[in-house]
Amino acid sequence: MNLPGIQSKLPDVGTTIFTVMSQMAVEYNAVNLGQGFPDFPMSEELTSLVAKAMRDGFNQYVHMNGLPLLRKRLAEKAQKLYNTELDPETQITVTPGGTYAIYTALTTVLNPGDEVIVFEPAYDSYIPNIEINGAKPVLISLRFPDYSIPWEEVRKKINARTRMIMINSPHNPTGAVLTEHDITELRSIVEGTNMLILSDEVYEHLIYDGMPHLSILRYPDLLKRSFVCFSFGKTYHCTGWKLGYCISSPELMKEFRKVHQFNCFSCDSPKQVAIAEYILREDEYLNLGPFLQKKRDFFRELMRSTPFECIPSHGSYFECYSYGHFSNETDKELAIRLTREYGIATIPVSAFYKHGEDNKVLRFCFAKKEDTLVKAVQKLSHLQ
Ligand code: PMP
Ligand code: GLN
Repeated sequence: MNLPGIQSKLPDVGTTIFTVMSQMAVEYNAVNLGQGFPDFPMSEELTSLVAKAMRDGFNQYVHMNGLPLLRKRLAEKAQKLYNTELDPETQITVTPGGTYAIYTALTTVLNPGDEVIVFEPAYDSYIPNIEINGAKPVLISLRFPDYSIPWEEVRKKINARTRMIMINSPHNPTGAVLTEHDITELRSIVEGTNMLILSDEVYEHLIYDGMPHLSILRYPDLLKRSFVCFSFGKTYHCTGWKLGYCISSPELMKEFRKVHQFNCFSCDSPKQVAIAEYILREDEYLNLGPFLQKKRDFFRELMRSTPFECIPSHGSYFECYSYGHFSNETDKELAIRLTREYGIATIPVSAFYKHGEDNKVLRFCFAKKEDTLVKAVQKLSHLQ
């Protein structure tokens, strides 16, 4: 449609791949291992706590920065897990989801002409979020196939305009996890500069193989210049709740809240009341890694009966599989064919690259009931 006088702020952007593939999954009645969401139920206790909060009258606005009790408990949790001293009054803001926290952080600090280092494949909101602020994403491909960060290349791409580096661990879509080496490299690059960090840690608890989650919250010198973004949707199996939070330094958070207060102002109150209580059940999040690792391993074992080759994931909901040895199709073509002809939806990893780099890899979401995984992989066993 022609919109007179209106110039699109995102002229090159279409509909997100998650919606496209989920719609196709419905249309072809396919098992959906595409978009990342669990198909098993969330905690009944937590849903009851929400219902109770509503009945108890917690249905009006809460504090614009988030329910004070929830922020206090988030600070206590961070203290226990990451040995960090946070002031819930000045450093934590509850947001309507992790994506919003990321967008708000970028909007808070980016000005036209600024550059942001983005590693690809990248979660699909990052680049449009940068561009809508008039800033420029500086793209660096993670090394294929282990998806590690090529720090030498990062050094080469840094210049006076570099405002920020975005990191994401555990990583969507690859399941790669940052190591101490990465933190050391990151520190040596930002130290003594004005560069900021955005650390997307929505999968903080979904980490496997005994690897520690190296949250930026562990490093006070890095936290000073960082926005760290989290999502309750991932932690409590309720992606549709769209509730998360951002942690930063008091100085950066003050600016973040200026943007937040005129965009969202305050988030869903009964859910904050419920989570403030439920967050005390530490096992719920401490057991998440082993719980999902079992699913990853179950899925990986099933996939051995297919021609796909596993690119091992160490975290997140996802594992990537390559197929270049048995098909020349683009990943988008294969993803569409699998949905239409085999009844299984996946995500083509080229969708996470601005210029569609295609290493012939599909992303599968294994955060599903075992039944679902069996049904999905059975469909692939006829693959030719
Ligand atoms: N970052 C990454 C890497 C994600 O996979 C997701 C999941 N959608 C988010 C952020 C945002 O989470 P939320 O649904 O809370 O916005
Ligand atoms: N994070 C989820 C994924 O990567 C979905 C997010 C979305 O649908 N926007 O699949």
